[in-house]
Amino acid sequence: MALIFSLATQAFIRFYWTLPALEQMAGNANKADLLRLQEAFNQQIETLRGISLDNAVWDEMHRAATERDAQWFEETYFLHETFSQLNINGWYFYASDHQLIAGQSIEPPYQVITNPVFSTPGHSITQHFLFNAVDAEEEPLSRWGLVTINEKPAIVVSHAITTGDAMGIIAGTSLIWSYINDKRMSLLSQALQKPIQLTLTPSAQDAPPNTVNAFIPDSFHGDAYEHRLNLLFNDYRNKPFFVLSFDETTYPFDHDIFDITLLIGLLSASLMLYLFYVFIRHQILVPLRKMLNIVAEVMATSDYTKSIELKGYDDIGKLGNHIDKLFKLVKDQRAELIEHNQQLKNMSYTDPLTGIANRRYLDQHLLTLAEAANTSTIPVSMLLIDVDHFKSFNDNYGHSQGDKALIDVATMLKQNTHAATDFVCRMGGEEFLIVLRDTDASDALMVAENLCKRIFNTGISHVMSPYHVLTVSIGISTKPAGIPLHHAELIDQADKALYLAKDSGRNCVESYQSNR
Ligand code: GH3
Ligand code: MG
Ligand code: MG
Repeated sequence: MALIFSLATQAFIRFYWTLPALEQMAGNANKADLLRLQEAFNQQIETLRGISLDNAVWDEMHRAATERDAQWFEETYFLHETFSQLNINGWYFYASDHQLIAGQSIEPPYQVITNPVFSTPGHSITQHFLFNAVDAEEEPLSRWGLVTINEKPAIVVSHAITTGDAMGIIAGTSLIWSYINDKRMSLLSQALQKPIQLTLTPSAQDAPPNTVNAFIPDSFHGDAYEHRLNLLFNDYRNKPFFVLSFDETTYPFDHDIFDITLLIGLLSASLMLYLFYVFIRHQILVPLRKMLNIVAEVMATSDYTKSIELKGYDDIGKLGNHIDKLFKLVKDQRAELIEHNQQLKNMSYTDPLTGIANRRYLDQHLLTLAEAANTSTIPVSMLLIDVDHFKSFNDNYGHSQGDKALIDVATMLKQNTHAATDFVCRMGGEEFLIVLRDTDASDALMVAENLCKRIFNTGISHVMSPYHVLTVSIGISTKPAGIPLHHAELIDQADKALYLAKDSGRNCVESYQSNR
């Protein structure tokens, strides 16, 4: 886009500003050349006019003209030197009644030729070039024009013959003419510093386009045709006569709207910009995008095991590594937190004295059990265990011995049950509960009796007891297979059975019977 915009701007500036300015510059130079050529041509006329003036405003010539002294004119003017030095081809003298007094035309090298144009002038030549016997102050004393002589273009200058003070009645006409010969052409070329070509032009239509008229300098516009400038000269009757043409000066600028060097420059600049973009994209944008995606993913999933793994050692690479370290830190801290939470949970579910599950854990366990789909299909039994005469044990042996005895009982209960299916907890004080999954009444009875016997056999001394050792009483309740679990009811039933066991003398086991 930037490339196209730059090119369009350049084309716009070139089209509307640069090229017109350059063309105007070239046009001005052309105009100056045309004026210079026209000036050089005028200069030649002025030279001829000067020659005319010097001779015609002269008392002696005035006399000779008045007296029609042909001999004097011939002797004074018709000399080889006169024609060659002044670069003219003919000199004619007329009386004020337009009668020819004397005249001669030559072609180099001094060969006299006949020239009826001036020896027997026609009406238009006479009208245009010859003076009448009027007061010299009434009209310009000099005239000029371009005439065809022997089919060649020639300059003609005529001057009124007057006395030396250029006053009084005009005595006649002094007329000189000269071919526009090689010498004159080379003078023009010198003035312009360019070769000049002369072409006869029978009509204005024959002139090339953009030709300007030498007699109207204000109309010079400076436009060339096929790189040539053409200056049209009319003859003395104001008819198109010949064209002087020359090459226009060429200027070192082309007319192309688009500058190829600029295009190349813009292309290489665009290429550089593209390469820069590729570099930035590879080094910054792509890694940034990768980081962004992974960070977003980690935030959405909380999966801090992910990592960005950038390869570079630059700032972006370092940033990636820092984020990876941050992820790892969060991951480690989360693991630590989970572990701490687990520990806290364990602590809250553990009886601090005996190290076995506590009442809160029991509640949780029963909830899980009640929610398990297969619980109603299997039998579940509960053993409620209470240490006998424990108050007197404490009283007799001290509280810390009591604590130790409780730990021993808990250990015993744990060791003689299956950790996978049987849940042992301390209900509080000297009371324990065991939940036996998939255990019917008779199996529960076997487990209870075994526990009771083992604690008795351990033989923890208890002198205040009728058995002299520490004993427990156990109440059993069972939910048969096929009915849902109501654990509060089951505990209640176990409690009732325990009461019975206490009643039966302690150190024994009783199962709950619904009919009792
Ligand atoms: P029974 O045979 O009828 O169960 O009589 P008992 O003395 O065991 O029952 P009682 O409820 O009268 O007494 C229980 C005693 O258990 C009271 C209390 O001092 C003791 N005890 C409860 N918790 C602890 C404990 O954590 N440590 C110790 N050392 N003793 C405890
Ligand atoms: Mg008790
Ligand atoms: Mg007790």
